[in-house]
Amino acid sequence: MVIERIELVRTQLPLVEPFVTSYGIETNRPVLYVHVIGAEEEGWGECAALSHSLYTSEDVDSCAHAIENLLIPLLSPTTTAQEFITLTSSLQGHYMAKAAVEAALLDYQLRLQGVSFAAFLGATQTRVPSGVAVGLQPNAESLIKTVGRFLKDGYQRVKLKIEPGNDIEPVQIVRSEFGSKLLLQVDTNGSYTLEDAPHLSQLDEFDLLLIEQPLAEDDLMGHAELAKRIHTPICLDESIVSVATAEIALDMGACSVINIKPGRVGGFLEAKKIHDLCLSRSIPVWCGGMFETGLGRAANLALAALPGFTLPSDLSASRRYFETDITTPFELIDGFLEVPQGHGFGRTPLPEVLAGLAPQVTSLTIPM
Ligand code: MG
Repeated sequence: MVIERIELVRTQLPLVEPFVTSYGIETNRPVLYVHVIGAEEEGWGECAALSHSLYTSEDVDSCAHAIENLLIPLLSPTTTAQEFITLTSSLQGHYMAKAAVEAALLDYQLRLQGVSFAAFLGATQTRVPSGVAVGLQPNAESLIKTVGRFLKDGYQRVKLKIEPGNDIEPVQIVRSEFGSKLLLQVDTNGSYTLEDAPHLSQLDEFDLLLIEQPLAEDDLMGHAELAKRIHTPICLDESIVSVATAEIALDMGACSVINIKPGRVGGFLEAKKIHDLCLSRSIPVWCGGMFETGLGRAANLALAALPGFTLPSDLSASRRYFETDITTPFELIDGFLEVPQGHGFGRTPLPEVLAGLAPQVTSLTIPM
């Protein structure tokens, strides 16, 4: 599997509506693809990083820099995804940058082997129940309208972004408007402290599936203590950057659910390890979204088709985020998204769509 060239492809795709969370507003999906090219095949990997380093310390510019200057120089023309993990194991951080390179290598080698990513991972489902994340809304009317629209589309679970001062009320409104059977969860993106435990315990009466990342990402002790003080299950997102941190968090009782995002943990191979750990302990997991384009969405769907993903994932139809996706779009069918069965990730950027976005393409040198 000789790699002849690697390109970094950058552009951006406007979101159909701004996405507002406790850490800021996103209006565009910055696109950073790693494109691996060989004589007979090519592979594509999408970087999950956003335009600002608000969700984690990485952003799309820092990832592009790390990929070009730290990661690609470690490759040879025959490096596999598994070898790449070993080569970069002593390089701290750079999770989303590593994940993008690993993804491109995986897509490339699986296409050469004629194997789908779902088959490679050991997926057991051919479709994945789809949930939707709802950003902070300016008022009750907008909240009800937005949630109602997504439920009409068929989404099976709703996740509300909340923040201090805008938390109990939106949950109460959605529960009273849409009933007790709605699968509902909240995400605070680490915007509370342990002192807020009495306040957060007010969420217990709403029978939420979980509260995601209530405290700061480095506050595992706080989460373990909070878990004793509230009944709503705690799910960790930002705190979990590896299978090692997942194991520590579970051992400490800091969470009882984990949101697995491949970009956040350095790639799909690490994500699979976290899945396997959680499955062995009967800890439910689900796949978070970073409003990826169809390329990243395709790969995430294969991951979310593993048996331990027992909660609906934040993997929505393409049109939830984009007017025109860069790949063949994903459609919601009866509340599910189909898991791609083609070779590799089963989706590649459509040349005419990508060209229309006037991407900036940088050729990178692979050491011989
Ligand atoms: Mg989250």
